[in-house]
Amino acid sequence: MRAVTVIPGVAGSLRLLDDYPEPATEEGSILVEALAVGICGTDIEIIEGLYGEAPPGIDHLVLGHESLGRVVEDPTGTLQPGDLVAGIVRHPDPLPCPNCAVDEWDMCRNGMFTEHGIKALPGFARQRWRLQPRFAVGLDPELVEVGVLLEPTSVVVKAWDHIDRIGRRAEWQPRTALVTGAGPIGLLAALLASQRGLSVHVLDLVTEGPKPALAGALGATYHSGPLDQLGFEPDVIVECTGAPRVVLESMYRVAPTGIVCLAGVSSGGRTIDLDAGELNRTLVLENNVVFGSVNANRRHWDAAAEALARADHAWLSSLITRRVPLSDYAAAYSPGPQDIKVVLDFTA
Ligand SMILES: [Zn+2]
Repeated sequence: MRAVTVIPGVAGSLRLLDDYPEPATEEGSILVEALAVGICGTDIEIIEGLYGEAPPGIDHLVLGHESLGRVVEDPTGTLQPGDLVAGIVRHPDPLPCPNCAVDEWDMCRNGMFTEHGIKALPGFARQRWRLQPRFAVGLDPELVEVGVLLEPTSVVVKAWDHIDRIGRRAEWQPRTALVTGAGPIGLLAALLASQRGLSVHVLDLVTEGPKPALAGALGATYHSGPLDQLGFEPDVIVECTGAPRVVLESMYRVAPTGIVCLAGVSSGGRTIDLDAGELNRTLVLENNVVFGSVNANRRHWDAAAEALARADHAWLSSLITRRVPLSDYAAAYSPGPQDIKVVLDFTA
């Protein structure tokens, strides 16, 4: 069967193999036929040789961690043939650490977790894959066009779950949320904020292309100016750019008792001047919280499937700006300036 692979650590090793072996039954009892794989910055970093780890004993890694497929067979009866399904990306570490021991693998403490298409587990960019029932998330059949957004949605569901948990340290009635960065993660974070009834604001550099209208369709106010000219202090900021200046400004601009969730990964290597004392003074005197958030556990994946089912499917579909047939796979990994989410289409 066909599979998109790289040799981790080797830039330019992206290949479409025709003779990749069928998934071994040890991978799981549920056999799935791939429909689509979403592509994100992590895939690009792996292709550039900067990231990624092959499974033990082999030199290549099948790409793809944002999955959508259709069940072919499930002898356990958890899912039925024809059901839509996505695979949970991260598996708990074998030790396990205290968090993985209670299936909170998104909070793994020893870094020995594995991840499909990223770290020591083959990804979903192959025509067929297998899942264990505990890592298989069923989706509403109406999500066939957009269910591939489940993985990024699970990431923002986790972010909001932790914002809520932190909020419960005191009386917490947030009214305004700012999302910085209108990429897929930012727009999905804004979707969840709107589903919570918050007054939503989205900030991004661009004034052209689909982003302002996509934010507007959620009822969100779109900003493209600097964060310090927002004109108000948001109760919650979900920072999705990873841009150092925006990260810092978020910490300064959040309202008293506010929460800043850092969900964007910075590339690092750039330094900016910072008055650490003033920042500390702001955070302490306003009881503010800044925290990082990555990945998601089963609870978040299930809640993400519900959030997608509740959302406007036409809006979700317009996040997918390009669907690239598998035969043209290389084009899928070259995002254009107007792209939000690019998807590799296994049905074309
Ligand atoms: Zn762990």
